[in-house]
Amino acid sequence: PRRRVLSIQSHVVHGYVGNRCAVFPLQLLGYEVDFINSVQFSNHTGYPLWKGTVMDGDQLWDIIEGMKANNLLEYSHLLTGYIGSASLLQTIERLVALLRQHNPGLIYVCDPVMGDHGKLYVKPEVVPCYQEIVPLATVMTPNQFEAEKLVSESIVTEEDAVAACNKLHKRGVATVVMTSFHPEGVEDHLLLIASTRMSQDDGLPSQLRLKIPRSAAYFTGTGDLLTVLLLARLDRQPRNLKAAVESAVASLQAVLQATVKAAGESAFAKERDAQVAKDRELRLIDNQHLLKYA
Ligand code: ADP
Ligand code: MG
Ligand code: MG
Repeated sequence: PRRRVLSIQSHVVHGYVGNRCAVFPLQLLGYEVDFINSVQFSNHTGYPLWKGTVMDGDQLWDIIEGMKANNLLEYSHLLTGYIGSASLLQTIERLVALLRQHNPGLIYVCDPVMGDHGKLYVKPEVVPCYQEIVPLATVMTPNQFEAEKLVSESIVTEEDAVAACNKLHKRGVATVVMTSFHPEGVEDHLLLIASTRMSQDDGLPSQLRLKIPRSAAYFTGTGDLLTVLLLARLDRQPRNLKAAVESAVASLQAVLQATVKAAGESAFAKERDAQVAKDRELRLIDNQHLLKYA
């Protein structure tokens, strides 16, 4: 299967995070996308409240058994995002092995969603499960905090960030994209650090940093969308990390700018308010042309 993705992430009925950021863009880029919802919530957790249900490992395995019985487990890519419980993540570990029996070349893109800015938003027992999953992943897209958790070391300097990428390579991950690194004392930009062991076209760097101007607006789902764009761009240009990353970030930034413009003052509001959260949902449908390959 050339372009057939199994995506396991959260689902919200209204708005854009998790699978709602993944399925449509991937389909637009020509991928068959089969998806399993790790949660089904009314809306994302930036709203004053949310309602819904959470999947556990047994429920996931039940679905996998149905797929297995019908010989439906041939995928080019597995993509995982928010996985809230240890039982679900352990089941994904079993699933990766099963999918590789059907396709030894399966690319596993793992966004190790654990938290941000010093705060965990999964149960603490999920952290060691992600550490265990590292050797199975082909591509990982942690933010700075998640990279710290994966390697059990604090990341303060850019050298620390690169060292963390190298440590993940040693454990078997071919490509690491640290989607945001915040250098101390720097307010006006963030850094993205990308590193690969895949052989690159002649003379191209296998490690690079991208300076991204920081917007004062608040967003949800940006990391989820970036991981999807990276999956597609890296698939298209596996021997040019720099081009793939630049193209993914350019698309994402264009969507963010369009979202800020459409959200007006709500883009910068600090309060947890339903209307504000709704106003700044990513504008994926209106701006779908920005997701396509440039
Ligand atoms: P996560 O949501 O997983 O923590 P990141 O915070 O790393 O994801 O954000 C992913 C990408 O979204 C960044 O690489 C950057 O391109 C973009 N982004 C996120 N927040 C901002 C911001 N405030 N200003 C500009 N770009 C942002
Ligand atoms: Mg972040
Ligand atoms: Mg994220």
